[in-house]
Amino acid sequence: MNLLIRGGRLIDPSSGFDGIRDVFIEDGLISDSRPSDDVPVLNASGRIVAPGFIDMHVHLREPGIEHAETIETGGKAAAAGGFTTICCMPNTIPVNDSDTVTSYIVQRARQVSPVNVYPIGAITKGSKGEELAAIESMREAGVVAISDDGRPVMNSRVMRRAMEVARALNIPVIDHCEDLNLSAGGDMHEGVQSVRLGLGGIPSASEDVMVARDLLLAELTGARFHVAHLSTSRSVAMVAYAKSKGLQVSCEVTPHHFAITDQELSAYDSNYKMKPPLRCRHDVEAAIQGIVDGTIDAIATDHAPHAGSEKMQEFERCPFGITGLETAIGLALSELVHKNLITLSRMIELFTTGPANILRLNRGTLKPGAPGDVTVFDLDTEWTYDVQQSSSKSRNSPFHGRRFRGGPVATVVGGVLVWSRE
Ligand SMILES: [Zn+2]
Repeated sequence: MNLLIRGGRLIDPSSGFDGIRDVFIEDGLISDSRPSDDVPVLNASGRIVAPGFIDMHVHLREPGIEHAETIETGGKAAAAGGFTTICCMPNTIPVNDSDTVTSYIVQRARQVSPVNVYPIGAITKGSKGEELAAIESMREAGVVAISDDGRPVMNSRVMRRAMEVARALNIPVIDHCEDLNLSAGGDMHEGVQSVRLGLGGIPSASEDVMVARDLLLAELTGARFHVAHLSTSRSVAMVAYAKSKGLQVSCEVTPHHFAITDQELSAYDSNYKMKPPLRCRHDVEAAIQGIVDGTIDAIATDHAPHAGSEKMQEFERCPFGITGLETAIGLALSELVHKNLITLSRMIELFTTGPANILRLNRGTLKPGAPGDVTVFDLDTEWTYDVQQSSSKSRNSPFHGRRFRGGPVATVVGGVLVWSRE
């Protein structure tokens, strides 16, 4: 629980600090006192030292789908990706729609996960979109937000009620914005490429109409509302507009949605199949612009492991989703920082203060007294992602074999080194 991280370039957006400085963790917390001579040392010279990264959108598959991922393996993949805190979506079996399931996840995570895990509770019972889940008791058991991720709430009246309850409990509502009638039968982004491949299209409008509806309901109810994995240019514009009107609205983008387009979709390779789908160049540029100008608050992976057997079917039959915890920092560095689109400090913000503010977590900062969670990464070491070496139980990544420059080096949770590259 005591650790001195020595000689690194410390960048902490919560205080604006950027310079060479040691970080001392005492009894699991960031300390400003002088470390004794016998304290264990982690050498970070030549590396970037940042507050522990937070991924607010992860699927851990436990309980119920443990052949694809568990709280333990997902936690290990998070640590190997440089994350110290993850939030898990409720679409398990059973769905996390009661304090019983929430408590199970919280306790199990304490026992087996190397990183902090915060559950996100369902909006509706069984995420069926009909009756509200036991939101208040889940809140007491530890959920930090509610979402029916993967199964959007189609009934606007139910969504309005959920926002009213969430507002009273002071937690955000996170929506996977998709109009299921518009996206029905679709396997990839609707455009020239879907026509060429002969696959059913998912139009951008299926996301846009739900973002519009939810922003209107957020205005009506005064709830804090968060758009999950935003993927279209119009979504970015609408969120920017809502923010300019003073609504308590936030949004996240995934690394795959800013790194690759539908043009790069390998024909019929199910590791390129996810929801929302990879969009066109215009949408990707709008997402990047939103990252640059501050419209987008967080980078979240939507880590969605599926067992090999499920992803080895014909494209149309495969489930949606890809893993993402271990490639997020590499993609953010290569697509955003090394291309000089954003500063390192801005990148760190998107992984730390951004999600921490949305979920009101006392994390994402290295101020004295904060939890001793630290992410150490480097900027220039070349490495290749080998999905066969993944800590996740699943292998469904489109980034297998991709070369990266810079990536995670060490992950420290509560003063304990839980993963290191060497
Ligand atoms: Zn989703």
